[in-house]
Amino acid sequence: MASGDPQQAAKVWSAVLGIVEMTIPRSSYKTWLERTNALSWAGDELLISVPDAFTAQYIQERLMVVLDTALRDVAGNGVSIALTVEGEKDTVLLPEEISKHVDPTSSDTKLTEREDNKSATVSQKFNPNYTFDHFVVGDSNELAFSGAKAVAESPGLHFNPLVLYSGVGLGKTHLLHAIAHEGTRKGLICVYTTCEDFTNQYVLAIRSGTTESFREKYRSADILLIDDIQFLIGKEQTQEGFFHTFNALHMSGKQLVISSDRPVTDLTVLEPRITSRLAGGLVTDIQTPTLETRLAILRSKSSTFDCEIPDEVMEYLAQRVQSNIRELEGSLNKIVALSQFKGTQISLETVKIAMADVRGSSHSKMVNDEAILTAVSNHFGIPKDHLKGKGRRKTTVQGRQVAIYLLRQETDLSLSAIGKILGGRDHSTVLHGYDRVASRIELDDTLRDDVLRIRTTLMKTT
Ligand code: ADP
Ligand code: MG
Repeated sequence: MASGDPQQAAKVWSAVLGIVEMTIPRSSYKTWLERTNALSWAGDELLISVPDAFTAQYIQERLMVVLDTALRDVAGNGVSIALTVEGEKDTVLLPEEISKHVDPTSSDTKLTEREDNKSATVSQKFNPNYTFDHFVVGDSNELAFSGAKAVAESPGLHFNPLVLYSGVGLGKTHLLHAIAHEGTRKGLICVYTTCEDFTNQYVLAIRSGTTESFREKYRSADILLIDDIQFLIGKEQTQEGFFHTFNALHMSGKQLVISSDRPVTDLTVLEPRITSRLAGGLVTDIQTPTLETRLAILRSKSSTFDCEIPDEVMEYLAQRVQSNIRELEGSLNKIVALSQFKGTQISLETVKIAMADVRGSSHSKMVNDEAILTAVSNHFGIPKDHLKGKGRRKTTVQGRQVAIYLLRQETDLSLSAIGKILGGRDHSTVLHGYDRVASRIELDDTLRDDVLRIRTTLMKTT
């Protein structure tokens, strides 16, 4: 096993994250794990850097068990994870550090300033892999990609704000970072923040009476990129701060780029003046990728690995993981890491086993049949007893088939058990329903989108 090798460390860590991401709530993943990096893999210890002491403490106390389990899954027994705060050499975490790190005047690590050491700072801020060059363009994301390109080329000129909307794991954050890379290259101040960070900083600024410096910092941006705006829902005070920041920048011709995991029309719970501002720019959505695009993405990602991945394996993965590119990437990382650790070739056989594992350790444990029925029922507006009943209306039949499809994909239930849950149907009816959805999902955008949305709800509620 390679030791001290940062590349190896990165692969292992990404395999671990791929597993953990599917087992913990999305919001926890984003808050605590998304901005971690593997530094080295020395002996039996994987050294991970985290942005601040607060994050380190949280991970240590709350997430270490799942992380350790996933690491063992990837690398075998006898290995462990050590945390270190970004830019600090010691791995020791002192509780008194925490207050320093959440101080609003020192915690704002995302701002890039016009300083001599700008490029050094910048390289830490934006994910180096999230560039336009690394983004695979297909029908599903073409419009969002062109919008992002246009904005990066002439900020503030055409589409302001640019709003990117899609389900989770489909490339919003990637495009936001790509714009920031491009803008920074042009010497512009690019400020990227998640809406969650923005909120936390705003609240702290109010508490500590430093709203003026908070404003200054954001308003100095040439391009302000705010990720996951849906986080503003229900946070009236922050909406106020956001609105003023938005206006100040917009009025001085600065570019705003915003992402949302809901359509702007669903953001009506935000203040109307915010939604109307958002709708006034260019709103583009990213659809779930087609099989062809998923394959292209896998090919592009796999070119960075120095190992053979048979075509049939790529096809299997692309067929299996439909809705989420992060998950697609996670499964690729996992099989590569596994084959490297075990010193075996990647084959369809080994991959099937590895993938069964991923499902087994995540979805099936968390998603139960009731949750699926509730989500399907809410999504289509069909009462649960209709799903279980004998009704043959087209919408009811379709909802029932989607329920069958999800029950089979997301749980370990047998066909006859699924039949039982759905009002005593036999196993061949269930199989027929499953096949209907499985075969149509590739061709029918609406159906694919329905299934994706229900899955997203399931991930959020479990
Ligand atoms: P979102 O912000 O929409 O949840 P991300 O931007 O975090 O999704 O994307 C999830 C992962 O998928 C990232 O690793 C990203 O690089 C990758 N990804 C998404 N879309 C593409 C694409 N079109 N080409 C290459 N990689 C992509
Ligand atoms: Mg994102």
